[in-house]
Amino acid sequence: MITHEVQNQAPPREGVDEFAANAPLVEGVARWGRDGARTSGGRPAGGPPAPDSAPSDADFDGIDAASVLHDLGRHVGSAAFQRDAERANTHPPVLHTHDRWGNRIDEVEYDDAYHRIMAAAVGAGAHTSAWAEPGPGANVERAAAFFLLAQVEPGHACPVSMTHAAVPTLELAASGLAREWMPRLLSREYEPGLGGAGLDTAASRPPQPPGGKRSALVGMAMTEKQGGSDVRANTTRAEPTGSDGSWGREFRLTGHKWFCSAPMSDAFLVLAQAPGGLSCFFVPRVLPDGSRNVFRIQRLKDKLGNRSNASSEIELDGTVAWLVGEEGRGVATIVQMVTRTRLDCVLGTAAGMRQAVAEAAWHVRHRRAFGELLVDQPAMQAVVADLALESEAATVTAMRLARAYDDDATVSATDSGPEQAFRRLATAVSKYWICKRGPGHASEALECLGGNGYTEAFPLARRYREQPLLAIWEGSGNVIALDVLRVLAREPEAFDAFFGVVAEATGAHAALDLEVAEAQAVVLEVSRDPASGAVRARELAERLALVLQASLLVQHSPAAVADAFVRSRIEGDGGTMYGALPPGLDVAAILARA
Ligand SMILES: Cc1cc2nc3c(=O)[nH]c(=O)nc-3n(C[C@H](O)[C@H](O)[C@H](O)COP(=O)(O)OP(=O)(O)OC[C@H]3O[C@@H](n4cnc5c(N)ncnc54)[C@H](O)[C@@H]3O)c2cc1C
Repeated sequence: MITHEVQNQAPPREGVDEFAANAPLVEGVARWGRDGARTSGGRPAGGPPAPDSAPSDADFDGIDAASVLHDLGRHVGSAAFQRDAERANTHPPVLHTHDRWGNRIDEVEYDDAYHRIMAAAVGAGAHTSAWAEPGPGANVERAAAFFLLAQVEPGHACPVSMTHAAVPTLELAASGLAREWMPRLLSREYEPGLGGAGLDTAASRPPQPPGGKRSALVGMAMTEKQGGSDVRANTTRAEPTGSDGSWGREFRLTGHKWFCSAPMSDAFLVLAQAPGGLSCFFVPRVLPDGSRNVFRIQRLKDKLGNRSNASSEIELDGTVAWLVGEEGRGVATIVQMVTRTRLDCVLGTAAGMRQAVAEAAWHVRHRRAFGELLVDQPAMQAVVADLALESEAATVTAMRLARAYDDDATVSATDSGPEQAFRRLATAVSKYWICKRGPGHASEALECLGGNGYTEAFPLARRYREQPLLAIWEGSGNVIALDVLRVLAREPEAFDAFFGVVAEATGAHAALDLEVAEAQAVVLEVSRDPASGAVRARELAERLALVLQASLLVQHSPAAVADAFVRSRIEGDGGTMYGALPPGLDVAAILARA
């Protein structure tokens, strides 16, 4: 019997070009992507505030990168992709330790929806396009693709990010190893499965040569039970076998790893204690003769969120590995990978904020309460506008940071110095602040959807469970804040480069100029009194993050956005909760942009 008609529910938000819908992302790509780099002579565009010169979508006509991103934006905004995102999380990966005959196989089975998402991400180059086609702006365009995909399905972004990040560390491997594996990492083909005997084949089948795979994904395994932040406490042992071939020095690893995500990746960069100290190793899941390497997946983690992505505990028992970089220099070798995964934590959180704002803004435009659309009610306007400010600040910062990663292979030596120094500090500062802001942002956004927001049928419940991860992964809050102090002690030139970028906005806003001076004073105080440093580490990271975000917004975003950010985050007008904005802001303009 029909008891009622469904009324006053928002329609599904489908068929949206998520790139076109995200003005800060479109503008970031135009400004810092390849085309922007061409017009600025390869240097990251900065200079005086010119918000009205922000490129419009029309400026992209005929530019390849933008049309590719529009295609990807439509793909991730489609009903089919959103269904896959939901399905990949509601049909999570399943571990098969043994085949039906009792042979150990250590395979994880994923839903087809996950494979379709991975194929889209790898096909779009969200993993390694910045390495495969380097140039000024390459990291920005790769970042935009990664952002769009992670906005709708974050779990798959883990192996995609790790593969991107593994490239500079793998370049330190013996030439034979790098020559064989690098083309696989750079491939845009997605080939799930390891090859050789496994889940879908009888274990008695003869070993298959791994060369049959044209593409590969690479993960990392550092964290052990007794310590994740403090990897020097790793107990996994590495014994040299005495063999030294084209892949370099061979070792056997014995020990465990407490967190090892995406265990179906083709290879891992693993830290272990060699006779010469903590070292970095390359561990393929399939050995050159086609047999399986020892890689026992003990169990999969039962996680708060990030369900589509398998995260495992593994045992290594005489596992064959090849040394990467110098023996005893494991941290220095893997740090290149760690740094780039931190960049992706920033991008992933910004992407999550964009999803949260897009869903919240959509809902309030369609839902009525007390006789009026929510979007017309000032208290709700303030909440959504405030969420949009946070999202735009995170997006612009993430894209500027991505630009700072372009220099490695491309920009002239004279340009690479300050950008490398800038990113050393800006990565830590942005990772700390933006990832910390993620969970609260998701919580407020899902509340805009009322009770619907708290249900699994809508995507923001999933997002809320996802956001804390990026604050923990690759350096939790304190560890990252302490990293800012480490930069101060060891690479003070990074602070000069950082404040050089911030200074591009000097004169644009008196309150910002004052806050920059205040932040510089805190830097000085902490450097003169290192004993107080650890206590002030979070304060310092927060101040630096806010002046960086504000300086980018006053240069590159419309005045309504920049003014609201400076008044609410720099001057401290209004309250501390989202939506407690000070009066007199152009909320309508901020909402229209969101
Ligand atoms: C879903 C998921 C997937 C993961 N995937 C991987 C993976 O693929 N590979 C991998 O290697 N790891 C992975 N990790 C592990 C992750 O990187 C670690 O959990 C993280 O680095 C923190 O380490 P820990 O858990 O040992 O915590 P701890 O290092 O014990 O830290 C606990 C707390 O203490 C704080 N702390 C640490 N040192 C200090 C200090 N000196 N002063 C003040 N506070 C401090 C930290 O900030 C943290 O809040 C994953 C984790 C999760 C949750």
